[in-house]
Amino acid sequence: MLPDLFLELPGNECKSPRDGLKPCKTEDILFLAALLQRAGNARYILETGDGAFVPEPAGVDDPESTETFAVKSRISRATVRGWFRKRFFPFRRMLANGRAPGHEVRFMGKELRSPTRWKPNEPWKLGKSLKWPFERGFDPLLRELHKIPLLSWQEIRPLKNGEVFCPLDGPVVPVGAELISPPVTWERLCGRHWRVLLCPNCLGQFSGKLIMMN
Ligand SMILES: [Zn+2]
Repeated sequence: MLPDLFLELPGNECKSPRDGLKPCKTEDILFLAALLQRAGNARYILETGDGAFVPEPAGVDDPESTETFAVKSRISRATVRGWFRKRFFPFRRMLANGRAPGHEVRFMGKELRSPTRWKPNEPWKLGKSLKWPFERGFDPLLRELHKIPLLSWQEIRPLKNGEVFCPLDGPVVPVGAELISPPVTWERLCGRHWRVLLCPNCLGQFSGKLIMMN
């Protein structure tokens, strides 16, 4: 099942996360992307009295400004970008950092990490093959995320069957990866097996689902 929140782009009228949660908790990554894109050069996002999230208008500190705003909170754009990075790139961050909490990791059926160790070079081979590549210890995408335009791909078109919208790449068919907790957790009856859906170009994560546990 494809994740609903990646099947439709938030329109201009959409001023808060579509799952009803606060931006710091939301799964609506496309909304966070839209917010960052709308912010442009504004350094702050304002939460207005009626629960909308909008970029701080230029000249808000100007006493001459006639605009009056009921402002509930003020969030820096960098903070919103941090939420976006954390929420959308957990799988990529795990690979690029070479960290995994003792889990077995498979990408499109191929083992990248056994329960005990990373397969030598496999994460880097995968990193090199991506449209948005990363190397051992250096991930230009995550480091330079502030320079990368979101929701601004060339051609906006409706999705075809099986596609979702990636905020960086536009319509893509997700690929699957799996995370399996270590053997000892299965022996202790707390084993977990997740299946995640990822963007084939940037490894952004569209969904994560627990498919087996004991
Ligand atoms: Zn992508």
